[in-house]
Amino acid sequence: MLHKNLIAGDWLAGESEIENRNPSDLSDLVGLYAQAGSDQLDATLDQARVAQREWAAYGLERKQAVLMNIGNELMARAEELGTLLSREEGKPFAEGKGEVYRAGQFFTYYAAECLRQIGENADSVRPDIEVDVRREPIGVVAVISPWNFPTATASWKIAPALCYGNAVIWKPANMTPASAYALTEIIARQDIPKGLFSLVMGSGGSIGQRLVESPKIDAISFTGSVPVGKGIAAAAIQNLTKVQMEMGSKNALAVMEDADLDLAVTLALGGAFGGTGQKCTASSRLVVHEAIHDAFVEKLVAGTQAMKVGHALEEGTQMGPVVSQQQLTENLAYVDLGKSEGAELACGGARLNMAHEGYYMSPGVFLNTRNDMRINREEMFAPLTSVIKVADYDEALTVVNDTNFGLTSGIVTKSLAKATHFRRNARTGVVTINLPTAGTDYHVPFGGRGDSSYGPREQGKAAAEFYTTVKTAYISAGPV
Ligand code: NDP
Repeated sequence: MLHKNLIAGDWLAGESEIENRNPSDLSDLVGLYAQAGSDQLDATLDQARVAQREWAAYGLERKQAVLMNIGNELMARAEELGTLLSREEGKPFAEGKGEVYRAGQFFTYYAAECLRQIGENADSVRPDIEVDVRREPIGVVAVISPWNFPTATASWKIAPALCYGNAVIWKPANMTPASAYALTEIIARQDIPKGLFSLVMGSGGSIGQRLVESPKIDAISFTGSVPVGKGIAAAAIQNLTKVQMEMGSKNALAVMEDADLDLAVTLALGGAFGGTGQKCTASSRLVVHEAIHDAFVEKLVAGTQAMKVGHALEEGTQMGPVVSQQQLTENLAYVDLGKSEGAELACGGARLNMAHEGYYMSPGVFLNTRNDMRINREEMFAPLTSVIKVADYDEALTVVNDTNFGLTSGIVTKSLAKATHFRRNARTGVVTINLPTAGTDYHVPFGGRGDSSYGPREQGKAAAEFYTTVKTAYISAGPV
């Protein structure tokens, strides 16, 4: 069956179609997905403008009900849609199901936010004049999402966009169109104006580029790689389009000499290899105090070697395949690069041949690495992590902060003093104490510094900054 795009409120075939295959088993065809043409993009942009005005005028409870229905359906169908997600992306079923459930929570959270849009008022500095400050929708929002969290990332953009009264044009990653289609199918069945929500599947270089260059959009929310993000920002500035970008990172987990060793190893393993290491919050640098280094490394390597790599939907799989042949090739090239830079590959980092043909590799750990090596500076998006040995806390903090990125960082310590100092001095948007660098909530801000993020924060109430524009009204009531 051909899965179509949602264009101006109608399901339409595109100018071509792509095959979507399961990275755990390449003989498994997930489906065929339409690729939108530029005429369709133009048509849906025009309809979105009309639909947005109608949606913004809906009553608060009517909008709230739409978001609540979407969220409830996602949560109720987490098992079914999580299976689909894992089948096309390759993360183990528990992670796929958890992601769909979390996506539902974004919608129910923003359903409640529909009723919490409260402005400010003030007396003017001029007599007998009042000032009313309120937020209004920004208009038509382009959402460009990646494959690694195909449902959750899109949902943490789409839910606030709709909550604050906007229309959405969604260009999902072509690697994971099934999850995009499934979410769109749910949204399309709701009580929304025709054309309020569009799905434009297609490649980033063609339809994505055309979308971000369009003067018909008011804002772009993007998650993906730094080079693509910079290109989108350059295109957006031509039209003075508002942008928000979440990009790569090189997150560090600092393990201090007083850390609970087993906890530290558990956090490192989960942070480094969850989602096959394909997370912007992955723990790709393990900065370890020399006093605990050898004991930590022994347990880390043993834990890495014990990880069960397999088909995403098979019982007991702890790590699935990587998402694509291209990603696998790049990952293996990073293994060679690390070795050529002088790092010691303690385990893993090799192509695996399994019962099903897929993009499998073993999780790898580099030892004796320096922070100036390319494997410690570039985002690999791979099941690979590096240990960097440090002499003390001060050196650990220096290494953690010595990066062009700045999304998340963590410390494992029993010292309140070190934890507090780290929390206040780590230069990242998210800091964790005795917790993994990956795994965040939905009701509080998410975002980073440096090359990791650009523009206002996502999630929680902070999302209002991006998805709205502020209006300041001056009111003179006149004499009674
Ligand atoms: P990209 O940045 O290429 O893709 C992210 C999204 O942007 C996709 O929907 C993509 O579409 C779209 N896109 C690509 N080019 C354009 C363009 N010119 N204009 C508009 N949209 C565009 O990431 P990749 O999927 O190629 O992954 C490459 C690397 O990026 C990873 O190895 C990782 O390092 C990083 N990355 C980081 C993520 C994060 O969460 N921070 C998420 C994903 C990737 P399409 O895929 O259809 O081409």
